[in-house]
Amino acid sequence: MSDRPRAGRAVTLVAPVTAALAHIGPAATWLPGLRHRCFPALAGAGRPDHVALTFDDGPDPVSTPRFLDLLDALGVRATFFVLGESVVRYPAQVRETVRRGHELGVHGWSHDRPWLPSPGRDARELARAARAVHEVTGRPPRWYRPPYGILTSGRWAAARRARLRPVLWTAWGRDWTADATPASVRATVAADLRGGGTLLLHDTDRAAAPGCWHAALGALPAIIGGCHDAGLALGPLSEHGVGTTTDPG
Ligand SMILES: [Zn+2]
Repeated sequence: MSDRPRAGRAVTLVAPVTAALAHIGPAATWLPGLRHRCFPALAGAGRPDHVALTFDDGPDPVSTPRFLDLLDALGVRATFFVLGESVVRYPAQVRETVRRGHELGVHGWSHDRPWLPSPGRDARELARAARAVHEVTGRPPRWYRPPYGILTSGRWAAARRARLRPVLWTAWGRDWTADATPASVRATVAADLRGGGTLLLHDTDRAAAPGCWHAALGALPAIIGGCHDAGLALGPLSEHGVGTTTDPG
């Protein structure tokens, strides 16, 4: 389809396409494709033999360790977009994520009311979150992904001031819903994920239906296996080869 990412091989997973269609709304079908066509670097389009694996909304002292253990077992590293308020609350979890070889991006200070832009507050909170990650890990974060992908002009400017690069996604698993299952997540991912894509999943139910992270965790082995079967490597955004310029300029 024309709205799918162009580059790379398709990822074949076990769930049928018909099942995927039941889980994808209009926003999922056209928004990532539109972004990919118009702003490929913002969408997270990278080298065609690679998939960037990203998780939002953590850290979570209950669920994040389960993801770290599974990723260790599968030999895959990822980018975790964390919330500043959780970074200062669970610093040991943040340091453990970095110790295991993963990288951190900034998802904001909190997940509250992201649809209400407030340039002053957005700038303060983004800088505060980036500073928290830097102080806890000793490394400045490089990436920014706003909650729900709502990247206002104010948040864009705030990211530039905080020396963060906005990156959204080309495929997701709709793993935040109450009825998500490993099979539904696999099917939804398979519908849109191609080589060169950036995959969005969640390592916590912090901003979603209670317990929904089990669906993403359960889907991960098949998603990663499907990528490997297609000849695609998975890794963090720093290894993805995202374009060196920020699209909207
Ligand atoms: Zn989020």
